[in-house]
Amino acid sequence: MEKRILLLTTGGTIASTQTERGLAPGLGAQELLESLRDILPPCRIDTREVCSLDSTNMTWREWLLLAGAVREAYDAYDGFVITHGTDTMAYTASALSYLIQKSPKPIVLTGAQKPIHMEITDAKSNLRDAVLYALDEKSAGVQILFNGQVITGTRAKKVRSFSFDAFSSINYPPLAAVQDGRILRYIDVGESREEPVFYDSLNPRVFLLKLTPGIRTEILEAVFQTYDCIIVESFGVGGIPDSMADDLFAILSRYEPGEKVLVMTTQVTYEGSNVGVYEVGQRLRERFPLLEARDMTLEAVLAKMMWILGQNLTGFGEIEKLFYERIGQDTILA
Ligand code: ASP
Repeated sequence: MEKRILLLTTGGTIASTQTERGLAPGLGAQELLESLRDILPPCRIDTREVCSLDSTNMTWREWLLLAGAVREAYDAYDGFVITHGTDTMAYTASALSYLIQKSPKPIVLTGAQKPIHMEITDAKSNLRDAVLYALDEKSAGVQILFNGQVITGTRAKKVRSFSFDAFSSINYPPLAAVQDGRILRYIDVGESREEPVFYDSLNPRVFLLKLTPGIRTEILEAVFQTYDCIIVESFGVGGIPDSMADDLFAILSRYEPGEKVLVMTTQVTYEGSNVGVYEVGQRLRERFPLLEARDMTLEAVLAKMMWILGQNLTGFGEIEKLFYERIGQDTILA
């Protein structure tokens, strides 16, 4: 029987046209498919335009819309392809990895650095490869396909602004490559015959605080009033400067454990964090229960916390347990 793919479009460069004020999403799903007419493998592709945004404008609301669209159509299709802007694709891929777990069907995000109608573009090969990958029996779960590389949804990071190889897989190998229409698998993900588990709520009150040398602390008060979780992106393996520690603990001590969650992560792209190594980190752990991102990407940590805090858990213990549970391939060090 002919395989069926659902193409969900969201905008991004891939679907952009030149306007007087710069590139902006303008092409619909059918126009994207038209450009690929002669290079797609035989299959039936239905389309749904979820939104038409530069991914700079995507929020957790669109993540929920996308997850809902996949859920609604899940039984009718063999696989899903989502076209998306590259700027926040890693966040969306992470969010979908938590909102749609254990999916035996592939959900493949792709996009492009150049619009599909440009003469020199990566859009056609990326979209064709994504469809090809979504059609394959052994594909499963949420992934990004970009520049011939397949990266699991929770490990992708945009690392180049202009080049075609825009994404890297962080602290985990790429799952597969697609070359000249052939899939070379490095890691098997297709064995799951489990039922997918869908979630439909997120708590968006998660803040990222990036440390800089000499950072002032006045901002903390407002941050803790507005957000339920603060991810501190510290410098290396992890620590809080002495100049911030006292103010931070004074504020945190006003809340019940679990009411505000502190997560430590690092600005360093590769190899993760471990706050136990230095005194500036250990002291922190002794004074307040906190979570450590270890080998997870920032995008995955942010999405995971939004997912966890969206589930009405009670107390720090339950949050901690879920945070350190491996979902998909999001961590190997927890
Ligand atoms: N600004 C664009 C977006 O993220 C960039 C891209 O798609 O490559 O929508």
